[in-house]
Amino acid sequence: MKEVIMAYQGEMALKGLNRKSFEIAVMKTIRRRLADLGKFKVYNAQSTIYVEPESDEIDMDEAYSRMQKVFGLAALSRAAVCDKDFATISALAKTYLADELNAAKTFKVVARRSDKTFPMNSMELACELGGDLLDAFPHLTVDVHHPDCQVFVEIRDYAAYVHPDKVKGAGGMPTSTSGKASVLLSGGIDSPVAAWMMAKRGLSIQGVHFASPPYTSERAKQKVVDLSYKLLPWTGSFKLFVVPFTEPQVYIRDHGVPVLFTVLMRRSMMRVAEKLSVRYGADALITGESLAQVASQTLKAIVCTDAAQELPVLRPLIGMDKSEITEIARAIDTFDISIEPFEDCCTIFTPPHPKTRPELAEILAAEAAMPELAALEEAAAAAAEKIAIE
Ligand code: ATP
Ligand code: MG
Repeated sequence: MKEVIMAYQGEMALKGLNRKSFEIAVMKTIRRRLADLGKFKVYNAQSTIYVEPESDEIDMDEAYSRMQKVFGLAALSRAAVCDKDFATISALAKTYLADELNAAKTFKVVARRSDKTFPMNSMELACELGGDLLDAFPHLTVDVHHPDCQVFVEIRDYAAYVHPDKVKGAGGMPTSTSGKASVLLSGGIDSPVAAWMMAKRGLSIQGVHFASPPYTSERAKQKVVDLSYKLLPWTGSFKLFVVPFTEPQVYIRDHGVPVLFTVLMRRSMMRVAEKLSVRYGADALITGESLAQVASQTLKAIVCTDAAQELPVLRPLIGMDKSEITEIARAIDTFDISIEPFEDCCTIFTPPHPKTRPELAEILAAEAAMPELAALEEAAAAAAEKIAIE
């Protein structure tokens, strides 16, 4: 039996003249994500993207599960394909959907016919097939409003397709169609969620992580690498830069104003991330900040952080509660890694009473008293270790 995965477009279907380029992008992503599973034919027809395995050996369960992480797709179904002949369709539905039909008490047939040369109309097809299935599975009854199982039959241009209910796709926009941004990845709960949310809107990402050995451990860095691999099935391959941040951080500790330490450090991080963005073609920064979550995320502190450099800072979590962020972290399976207890450089040297309403003028004055900071930031960016997440 021949199987195919059918993917239905999400928001990109609304894109008018640009739609074609979005379709090409999502098909490219699909080909890439499935490449190591075997050969597939991926094409687009009638607003549906078809993914056809070219051999019987291919692991279709794995292909289907990977495709549920491809951004740009609203829904997916996995269908059996046959000739456009009623007897063949009926026999196929009975075998292909036997498990679903055996487990259900009620069902409904949904028939669609885009090939108008097929001799039965949709209504006739649904009735005939419904009758055949009732004969074959006598425990079933028809429920058109709330069926346990829906049987879809679609008569399309090239073939007939039989499938159970669709599953939800990842939504969003196809990877890289929105450009590229640098995500500041700590090992915490928030920043991987922020990365995922912006990747969902079609950004390709690069990661920037600040490590301050010996104050932070190798294990803390490994945690960020592990988190990056959790993001990989959604984002596709990306570069993770690990910035040796000890020298700027120690310098800020020793020469900055203690109650402003966190904001001074975050501005320093932003400037280093800006350098790595400019160098590697990213047009924005992404952080996991959420308004008022901690002292460095008050509006005043964010104003100061924003003024540190030129690139726009995207903060997808800004209006979310921790519980809402955690829910996404669990759904994308980053949560368990994020809660591993390894020190982040953000939590070292922090004063007991950081100023929650810093003014930009006092921040700039504090930075004016740190003349060597710029050179230390330049050196840290230049020394960043580049890890390929692939
Ligand atoms: P997270 O859970 O993402 O660590 P958080 O609530 O702990 O966030 P902070 O530690 O104040 O918040 O950090 C705010 C944001 O700054 C993070 O979401 C992240 O984008 C960035 N950030 C913090 N520490 C680092 C780091 N060591 N490397 C890279 N980015 C960092
Ligand atoms: Mg943190």
